[in-house]
Amino acid sequence: MGHREDICAAMVALVETGLNRGASGNVSLRDGATMLITPSGVPPRQIRPEDIAVMPLAGSGDWDGPLAPSVEWRFHRDILNRRPEIQAVVHTHAPWSTALAVARKPIPAVHYMIAAFGGTEIRCSDYATYGTPALSEAVLAAMEGSRACLMANHGMVVGGNSISNALWLANELEALAHQYFHSLLIGGPHLLTDDQIAETARGFASYGVRVKGAKP
Ligand code: 13P
Ligand code: ZN
Repeated sequence: MGHREDICAAMVALVETGLNRGASGNVSLRDGATMLITPSGVPPRQIRPEDIAVMPLAGSGDWDGPLAPSVEWRFHRDILNRRPEIQAVVHTHAPWSTALAVARKPIPAVHYMIAAFGGTEIRCSDYATYGTPALSEAVLAAMEGSRACLMANHGMVVGGNSISNALWLANELEALAHQYFHSLLIGGPHLLTDDQIAETARGFASYGVRVKGAKP
């Protein structure tokens, strides 16, 4: 599959896993000096590979394609420009993440998987109207040093090493939000310490499928 097909498949996967519904959410992928980004307002199953818009990362809104890009192209472009380690950006209105974002509750170290995001908490950005430069600034600030943030009264955004990594992070963030939300209902979470998260992060460096006899 090519990049465009991967983006279409990611949008469908977000609906199938309950992280998005309707035409909410968007996906982008770095492609050299450009980004490929989903078109605005099209339900995922109707997005065709040729509908993916192309935008120069150095541009200020110019695009190529049959359909206009996502209204959120600014924060996708700005994340890809300012975070060279990020290759793909996924934005969703996932229910549990959005519930916390509505309450403007950042997610603390409720589970060791928070280490996958590069910090000890998932911050919640300030509120700004969708599609605005102010929203992009708020998201960039809340994502500093992290692969994700909640977006006040809106949803969440994650930045991955690839589309599949970004989808995995989006699912993990939604799981953290689900766990945190429910722990609040039964007396509140017992939080992990910074040292415990740092130890997990060190372990993650070598975690994964291991084949017998292969060098670690
Ligand atoms: P687009 O359909 O323009 O990508 O917008 C959806 C969205 O989630 C806006 O924040
Ligand atoms: Zn949105």
